[in-house]
Amino acid sequence: MCAAFSPEEDTLFEKTGAAVLKRLRKTRNPADLLTAVASTYKEFDRAFAAAPAEAKAAVACRAGCGACCHVPVGVQAHEVLIAARHVQTHFSPTQLDELIARAAVHRAAFAGRSIGERMALKTPCVLLAEGSCSIYEARPEACRSHHSHNAEACQTNLERGREEIDVYIPGVRGRMFAVMLATDQAVVEAGYDGRAYDFGSALHEALTSSLCAVRWVQRQEAFPESCREAGEPDDDADSGVMHAEGYFQD
Ligand code: SF4
Repeated sequence: MCAAFSPEEDTLFEKTGAAVLKRLRKTRNPADLLTAVASTYKEFDRAFAAAPAEAKAAVACRAGCGACCHVPVGVQAHEVLIAARHVQTHFSPTQLDELIARAAVHRAAFAGRSIGERMALKTPCVLLAEGSCSIYEARPEACRSHHSHNAEACQTNLERGREEIDVYIPGVRGRMFAVMLATDQAVVEAGYDGRAYDFGSALHEALTSSLCAVRWVQRQEAFPESCREAGEPDDDADSGVMHAEGYFQD
């Protein structure tokens, strides 16, 4: 599928895509569709568990770090809806109100800004709480796919506003992106919204309008234009399917 993938990663990509597509196509009850996609999150855990031991041992990510949670997070609609469902079932009414207020501020700050301007804001994710993810089990795919071998370098990159130091672990990264790209592509192939959204902005919309989930199930565009991820001039504006090559460039 992608020249950057090893044969093993390529196999993982093909198998994951086929499994997600099959699961989505055989789900008849619309209420079960999100659960069907969410079950793919286990594939990320399995892919990590099967990575080479030395690659896993190199992971420096720890609870309480959170440097990587200060950049814009690009997602597809299903990831937002899975996160919103988790929040609605696990957060107290007060926590929910506070989250909606934070997401509204985030959305207003991102409105009309380019991706570079959004990056420069270095705003913490609206779900970051005391350095940890408050929806860890339901976090988006990009968050699941990120592993660093150098937490200090992550902090330095954040302070400098750009990824000057390579923190990635090839033996893990390729596997995680194979699962992520396969999932995103399968969702699109099954006819569901594949546009790229800004996580914080779309989460605000999902928590304040139940119509987002209805539109997604009906295979419509789930979120308004104001929730779109800001792209670079050459980006494919209509696709939330990540392009693997972009993740392996220096
Ligand atoms: S969803 Fe969780 S892991 Fe992802 S950026 Fe937000 S706080 Fe970090």
